[in-house]
Amino acid sequence: MQTQQLEGKMGRFIQKLNDLVDNTGDEARLLESGGEYLAELIAEDDWLPESCTVPHPEYYQQYLLYSDPQDRFSVVSFVWGPGQKTPVHDHTVWGLIGMLRGGEIETSYELKSDQLVAGERHSLRPGDVGKVSPTIGDVHQVANAFEDQVSISIHVYGADIGKVKRHVYTETGETKEFISGYTNTELPDFAA
Ligand code: FE
Repeated sequence: MQTQQLEGKMGRFIQKLNDLVDNTGDEARLLESGGEYLAELIAEDDWLPESCTVPHPEYYQQYLLYSDPQDRFSVVSFVWGPGQKTPVHDHTVWGLIGMLRGGEIETSYELKSDQLVAGERHSLRPGDVGKVSPTIGDVHQVANAFEDQVSISIHVYGADIGKVKRHVYTETGETKEFISGYTNTELPDFAA
């Protein structure tokens, strides 16, 4: 098994998240403190390995940066090519979105008697942190805010999100189960 080097800003971030999940299972506290740690991490854009910034011409990419050995949380780099977007989807666990580069448009959805209704739209710019969870609102669609540039956001989830069965909602109102995959097969190293 590969040993991952975890130093510098990412190393300190993982250490703080570890301490947090050791100390609480309370979703509000996880989102609050986890959100503060993520804001610190993305305050500077000088730590993400080049290998986890590469877009794909057709699909948005999801590079696994770290996964807790006990699956209590995972950290993923989302790389959006110009104009790329997710389907409407849920997470089923708490999640944080930290904008690192470029921008995203996030649209929240509510399920009202089996009908999907679009709610608020938020624009995320570098340094901004968004939150999702089954308690505070879990269904959304995320899109690159730009048609002509790559955007990157760092996501934190309250599980190994690559193992979680969740849902996409089609425009015709159907619900489909899915499990998201990771683009990379090897974890990146984070040097000091
Ligand atoms: Fe999402």
